[in-house]
Amino acid sequence: MYDFCVIGGGIVGAATALKLLERCPGASLLLVEKAPQLGTHQTGHNSGVVHSGIYYEPGSRKAELCRRGAQATKEFAAANGIPFDECGKLLVATNHVELRRLDNLAERAAVNRLEIERLDAAELRRREPYIRGVAALLVPSTGIIDFRLVTAAIAKHVEAAGGQIQTSTEVDRIDETGDAVTIGAGEQHWSARRLVVCAGFQADRLARLASIRTDTAIVPFRGEYYQLPAARKDIIRHLIYPVPDPDLPFLGVHLSPTVDGTITVGPNAVLGLAREGYRKFSVDRKDLAELATFPGLWRLAKANIATGAREMRNSLFKRGYLRECRKYCPLLQVADLLPHEAGIRAQAVRRDGSLVHDFELERTPRSVHVLNAPSPAATSALPIGELIADTLLSDRRPTGSIAFRNRPALEPGSTALIRDRTRCIAPEWACGKQRKSPSRLGGKDFSIGGPNASEHEHPNGGRP
Ligand SMILES: Cc1cc2nc3c(=O)[nH]c(=O)nc-3n(C[C@H](O)[C@H](O)[C@H](O)COP(=O)(O)OP(=O)(O)OC[C@H]3O[C@@H](n4cnc5c(N)ncnc54)[C@H](O)[C@@H]3O)c2cc1C
Repeated sequence: MYDFCVIGGGIVGAATALKLLERCPGASLLLVEKAPQLGTHQTGHNSGVVHSGIYYEPGSRKAELCRRGAQATKEFAAANGIPFDECGKLLVATNHVELRRLDNLAERAAVNRLEIERLDAAELRRREPYIRGVAALLVPSTGIIDFRLVTAAIAKHVEAAGGQIQTSTEVDRIDETGDAVTIGAGEQHWSARRLVVCAGFQADRLARLASIRTDTAIVPFRGEYYQLPAARKDIIRHLIYPVPDPDLPFLGVHLSPTVDGTITVGPNAVLGLAREGYRKFSVDRKDLAELATFPGLWRLAKANIATGAREMRNSLFKRGYLRECRKYCPLLQVADLLPHEAGIRAQAVRRDGSLVHDFELERTPRSVHVLNAPSPAATSALPIGELIADTLLSDRRPTGSIAFRNRPALEPGSTALIRDRTRCIAPEWACGKQRKSPSRLGGKDFSIGGPNASEHEHPNGGRP
């Protein structure tokens, strides 16, 4: 019997395994991954941006996790020799509507305690001669990294701490009883005292395997990229982003330098017909059948017909895609858009058609399921891992399934939960004798609320 099993070897599963072993030195842990290597899916197919958190609602869990995650990722990269480039990000406004949105983002950055610099059109041109705009915001702390390398380095630490990693193993059953959780993959099976499931595209299916009733389903949204030819690799110094539409903040094709020296263009967001099919016209019959019968997808499509049609058109016709980039980089030509592998977002959508924007966890007495881990979950993976570990190790003995959805946002820097959080140390059975100091977990101040903050809610609603 293991102390812990973790299903899913993307960056969230790997980070959670590490944080569990940091919290509980000497515990036994097995991480099971379906693919032959860790970080194969979303973790290995993304823009590689270590986000600063400028877009997120001040005080929200997403903003706080992103801010802490960016710092933790930079420190982890430095300590493990992983290439990281703090190249900075420029948000470029190309018209007066975007200018107003840029002003709002500047205000939000101030509340999120982010250092930014405002550039006028001339200064933008001086810093980025090939980029055009009426104004821009520079976020110097945004950087680039290869999250696959980060995941591989995390996995090494997991193994060094005694954890076992088994790849090429697809979990096909989960059976939770009062004493243990048993997971199976074909002929094999393992039991553990506690289980974490971080299965990305398969999150809803594994939740169903565990008899969790959730009203969300994973809808795959392809994020298609191009890359620029080598001759164009010096045209930008920063990440170049359009100003997002606040209603659809994840849309907007950007130019991203990568740590391997290429510049990617993208991603867009079009409905995918296969959760794990990276080729343009990949179709998976099971995925398609589930999509077709999920009412949330039809409601989402109805509410976003114009945007969906535009994204689809730009996916099919390069010229449309190019038009999006030429708004701020007029130099680019169709011939500059070379093929590049797509990514696929595992986006949780509710039956009512609404997108789940935040991280979402669901808990059973012995398990935590990550139901939604959208961008910037790669940036935030280390603190998300802490959050999941602390949720799983909570000394409260739940009696049923508890959803932590729609938890009220915490005040930034709230200390009310630090005290409560100190009760979330691992129980003796999992940690042997080496409990952590209550006020400093894993050598770091633990100053944000977990998804289970409602369990520990301060009478004042989390306010100090
Ligand atoms: C196009 C795109 C661009 C993005 N850009 C950024 C960015 O620049 N910065 C950022 O911070 N975030 C970005 N993200 C988001 C980020 O990549 C994801 O939020 C993050 O990688 C999620 O990690 P994960 O571990 O939850 O999921 P995954 O990496 O998808 O891992 C889940 C794992 O579970 C495994 N699994 C599933 N089912 C089973 C099973 N039955 N048994 C065993 N294993 C199983 C899968 O094989 C997979 O390896 C982007 C995402 C996309 C798609």
